[in-house]
Amino acid sequence: MTVRTAALDEPQHGLTDEVLAQTDVLIWWGHMAHGEVKDEVVDKVYQRVLDGMGLIVLHSAHFSKIFRKLMGTSCDLKWREVARKSASGRRAGPSHCRRAGRVFRIPHAEMYGERFDIPAPDTLVFISWFQGGEVFRSGCCYNRGKGKVFYFRPGHETYPIYYQPEVQRVLVNAARWAAAGSGPQVTFGHRPNPIEKIG
Ligand code: ZN
Repeated sequence: MTVRTAALDEPQHGLTDEVLAQTDVLIWWGHMAHGEVKDEVVDKVYQRVLDGMGLIVLHSAHFSKIFRKLMGTSCDLKWREVARKSASGRRAGPSHCRRAGRVFRIPHAEMYGERFDIPAPDTLVFISWFQGGEVFRSGCCYNRGKGKVFYFRPGHETYPIYYQPEVQRVLVNAARWAAAGSGPQVTFGHRPNPIEKIG
């Protein structure tokens, strides 16, 4: 895999037509500055997804313009930032991600809780449980046009979550899954000839 970065303060946020055309999978992380992302860039990314580019949306990018546009909902949720060591000295809130009977634990995580205002995922890969009792749909797969979208909840900026091997494994697998051209050839539009002869 060839990996490179694009940042908000670059021209076109680093997402020029040329860069987008060369990108199989775009991984999007954003937090406070979603409103500074230009609509024209969002529209181009949106079109690239419909044309087959994969998109992986991380953590607080649930509120990114591109994810909300692709979902068509508010993408709002409940949250609680749990300090590594709170004033009372209690431990931070961990979360557990569960997939197909396998569980991995993230020692320190921001709580994201339901309801998460997204359309029902085409495939739900991860559910998380947090200390405190909340649960959250943490790994959600969607098809949008010819493109694949994966939302992955872990990734708060003050915890070293992306250094955790299980999380890195998820992201590598997600990139492979979402890569352009990895799925069946999808066609749309008028189809004068049926697949099977009509009786
Ligand atoms: Zn966060």
